[in-house]
Amino acid sequence: MYISQNYYSLFPQLQKIIQLYEEVEKITNNVKNLFSVSCPHGCGQCCKTASHNIEASIIEMLPLCVYLYEHTNYQLWLDKALDNLCPFYKDDTLYNDAGCCAVYEYRPLVCRLFGFSFMKNKYGAIVPVACSTLQNQYTAKKEIAAIHFSNLPHMSSLSMQSMMIDPSRGERYPINEAFIKAMEYVILKIRLMHYQSDYNKTA
Ligand code: SF4
Ligand code: SF4
Repeated sequence: MYISQNYYSLFPQLQKIIQLYEEVEKITNNVKNLFSVSCPHGCGQCCKTASHNIEASIIEMLPLCVYLYEHTNYQLWLDKALDNLCPFYKDDTLYNDAGCCAVYEYRPLVCRLFGFSFMKNKYGAIVPVACSTLQNQYTAKKEIAAIHFSNLPHMSSLSMQSMMIDPSRGERYPINEAFIKAMEYVILKIRLMHYQSDYNKTA
């Protein structure tokens, strides 16, 4: 991730959430290998949905918002967030191997876990949290889930880990709303830092 070190002291949560994302990357890669499941090339159906169907927290959005503040015209993304789709969804996979997410490396936790994490259903069975395409791939390998039950990533416990990094910013909102709130938090804190630094120079 391309985030300047300066921001790590301003946002002490950054290091922890990025560490969690690195861990989640390893865990979900293990799931992909263990079950031999993968998204078909160019599929982005889970992103192409009303934003209230994808919930994220401010803390999950923090690395993305700091990155956008530092490297892009963040106002353009805020304008896009007023639409009903996730502002980062892009439907141009035919031309771009990076897929349907314009900020893939910085995407929030929910997008990292969907498809490659598990939960208990109402009958107590361990089931993947996934779309129907991936569910079909998992169905053929049900016995693997039973064998590796205790080592499989649980969506709720990983979400709880992210929430515990900063409980006051762990509440979940529709992804667009979470992005706007996280961006506002980042902008305010950085402006305050500049204001204080200017004030100290003139005092
Ligand atoms: S999780 Fe499902 S809907 Fe989303 S990209 Fe993968 S296969 Fe497509
Ligand atoms: S942030 Fe990226 S992966 Fe997540 S919903 Fe939006 S486009 Fe999809």
